[in-house]
Amino acid sequence: MNKKKVFVVSHSHWDREWYMGYEHHHMRLVTLMDDLLELFKTEPRFDSFHLDGQTIILDDYLQVRPEREAEVRHYIEEGKLKVGPFYILQDDFLISSEANTRDILIGAQESKKWGNKVNLGYFPDTFGNMGQTAQMMKLSNLDFAAFGRGVKPTGLNNQVFENENYSSQYSEMWWKGPDGSKVLGVLFANWYSNGNEIPVDKVTAKKYWDQKLQDVEKYASTDNLLMMNGVDHQPVQKDVIEALDVASELYPDYEFIHSNFDDYLKAVAQDIPEDLSAIDGELTSQETDGWYTLANTASSRIYLKQKNTQVQRQLENITEPLAAIAYKNTNDYPHDQLKYAWKTLMQNHPHDSICGCSVDEVHREMMTRFEKSREVGEFLANDALNIIADKINTNVFAVGSKPFVVVNTQGYEKSQMVSIEIEWDRAPFSEGTPNDQYELMQSKLAELPELEVVDKHGYGIPFELVKSEVRFDYDLPKEQFRIPYMGLFITIRVPVESLPALSWTTLALQKKTQAVIKNDHKLFDVESNTLENNWLKATVKSDGSLTILDKKTNRIYDDQMIFEDTGDIGNEYIYRQSADKKTIYSTDFQAEVEVLINNEYEAKIKVSQDICIPVSADERLEYEQKSVIDITERIARRAKECRTIRVSTVIGITKMEDQLKFLTTFDNTCLDHRVRVLFPTQLDTNTHNAESIYEVVERSNQVSDSWKNPTNPQHQQAFANVHDNHGGVTVGNLGLNEYEILSQDNTIAVTLLRSVGEMGDWGYFETKEAQCQGMQSFVYSLSFHDKSIASRINSYMQARNNQVPLQTVQTDIHDGEWKLSHAVYKVSAEDFAITCFKQSEDGVADIIRGYNMTNESEDINVNVEKTKLQTVNLLEEPLNDISKEVLKPAEIKTFKIDW
Ligand SMILES: [Zn+2]
Repeated sequence: MNKKKVFVVSHSHWDREWYMGYEHHHMRLVTLMDDLLELFKTEPRFDSFHLDGQTIILDDYLQVRPEREAEVRHYIEEGKLKVGPFYILQDDFLISSEANTRDILIGAQESKKWGNKVNLGYFPDTFGNMGQTAQMMKLSNLDFAAFGRGVKPTGLNNQVFENENYSSQYSEMWWKGPDGSKVLGVLFANWYSNGNEIPVDKVTAKKYWDQKLQDVEKYASTDNLLMMNGVDHQPVQKDVIEALDVASELYPDYEFIHSNFDDYLKAVAQDIPEDLSAIDGELTSQETDGWYTLANTASSRIYLKQKNTQVQRQLENITEPLAAIAYKNTNDYPHDQLKYAWKTLMQNHPHDSICGCSVDEVHREMMTRFEKSREVGEFLANDALNIIADKINTNVFAVGSKPFVVVNTQGYEKSQMVSIEIEWDRAPFSEGTPNDQYELMQSKLAELPELEVVDKHGYGIPFELVKSEVRFDYDLPKEQFRIPYMGLFITIRVPVESLPALSWTTLALQKKTQAVIKNDHKLFDVESNTLENNWLKATVKSDGSLTILDKKTNRIYDDQMIFEDTGDIGNEYIYRQSADKKTIYSTDFQAEVEVLINNEYEAKIKVSQDICIPVSADERLEYEQKSVIDITERIARRAKECRTIRVSTVIGITKMEDQLKFLTTFDNTCLDHRVRVLFPTQLDTNTHNAESIYEVVERSNQVSDSWKNPTNPQHQQAFANVHDNHGGVTVGNLGLNEYEILSQDNTIAVTLLRSVGEMGDWGYFETKEAQCQGMQSFVYSLSFHDKSIASRINSYMQARNNQVPLQTVQTDIHDGEWKLSHAVYKVSAEDFAITCFKQSEDGVADIIRGYNMTNESEDINVNVEKTKLQTVNLLEEPLNDISKEVLKPAEIKTFKIDW
């Protein structure tokens, strides 16, 4: 009989920041790496060390010890240090689809710089796993994926029940994606520490191995047993080889090998049994008691998620598309600057960082990184916009007029009220004292002529003059010293209707020459408190909630936009409602309505309510926190004392958009609570949909039999949707990643804020800043659709579009090779959600990537010559794709378009 093989893989799971600030963990990393380099020299039998699947660790070390780069490189080349495949160990669900891809892409590029990467998608600690992992691994040349959560291991002697889709008797399993892709998954059924701190002493070793071997064999599908020699921030076990010698002596029937993932996976793949379980799609611990899914990290420190969404949209959907347009056919695309911005942003994407489940100093540093990344994105976007504007021939506009370009950087047609500030006149400091120039511009302001906005045909477009003012500004020319001046600036709002995907158009502000379109019709009726356009009619009731008629289906949705406040005695990981279950609803308070804007193109009203909520939890909570009482056993209640919080919501409607947009703000002065906004759908259905990573996932509205947690929080990207056979409701958001479908009325409940005072997990860590005190604001939207798939997809695309405003830039009158309006590419496939438009990494083509929002296949085409179009994988390598003109169900498709 062959001996069973015990593959011992030494590693350390390196959370870059978590229960201590970044540098505290960083300094320990320096020691770990120093120890490793020493050990490689002194212990030739030490096979290798797995560097946790993330290449950033190398940068972190060499930042402190740059002189050891050659040694590090040597040991990577020798196969002693196992690096890659990813850049960081992310949270799948809280970063965007593209951010997940960039983690793979940049990780692959970094690995290549050093040597070979490990052929294993590594998700040891990820809080649930995304459904498209299999397809994404396949598209990154990775054949395996290892993960620590999401599936319930049942063990060899237990049956896997038919209705338990997320259980496996083995630690190895096939993992399939919604498109049919399949990888071999390895679950750390005994966690990634099952071979940590192996004893050298014989007596202790015997006890250790008896237990450990039994545990690992319970789940192993083959005679190849994986022991993970390490855990979170674990120093390397220097005497592990000695410990394995002892084990070999004690257990002659086993072969103990100090090894690595590549060898282990090769052995497993050869011996895989035929009855291996297959699991489908996302793994979110559906078959557990529901308490430790860690999905509530989606609502911990929501300010991080909001900021992250903004910066992702800036890089992915604004800066990259603008740069791709501006620098097409040239070598000037800012590849390096963008990579720097992405890397800076991705330092905020590890699971303990973006999940908001670390101590305050960690999250303080994150805010600086977000700002740095955003600034780079903004700088590059402005550069690109100016280049685009310079190339457009604007000679058609009248002398003295002020042309401006509006760009839709999104992959879907877009309508929006656009705000732009136009510099109408200027007086440079080189021609007079600042004070004189200020006076000069003030006199021009006093004589400002009547104005109009025209399109390229000279037709007037209605607009609103918001503001005109004189103020200081400056130019920073590329080849000249700065130019300060006083400018006369005019801010206008213009309706831009149905601007095609990836296109621009040019308008101009000028002295009025013709009559402005007049229309007395207004979108808000003050008498009845009703907002109305062609598709919707929404009435604000005295309790602040809305009754909405969806004119497409003639359905009435009542009690929309209700705020719910509950006590939260949990922590950054888990929401736990206070024992008194005391819940406050906004409908118990009187609402005031104020009109902000009301014309034929748009209306904005502000609905405000003074809502009285308990100031905090009662004193019991502090005791429960300090004595580290488990979440499930806490009984703290809400305090008796209440405080009034004024909750104000600006509700906007436009003539061109089939949706309502909301901006809710309040000054959070209370502790230990959660605020959600509720949209009851009253629809009869057992499932709902939400945008996840490269998929619109369908999830059950019910929980499994084993579920004990009274709540069932879920992750979303841009939207959640509930529909039946006749139509449905889509709620969009900006950086509000947590929602729940409440079984009563199938309500879509979106978490706006969760205020908690401790980190949680393995001890007591106070986190005052996770109480999220001060002014908070939340952006979301509501739209309805009819029974057609096209209508539903349109509501999804609209929610995605809401996250990316149209981009504008002023220009002057000049010659140029480009037309006043133009669509850069046209992609024909209604269900294709474009996530990326950028220049290829090799700088010779454009990249367009997106995913199929449905499980139907569809024709797809890009309007370029067929020979210029190829499909590539996530690493931008050519695919042997014979069906590039077909978008398969749930497919992630990347086009490389030669110029
Ligand atoms: Zn971790």
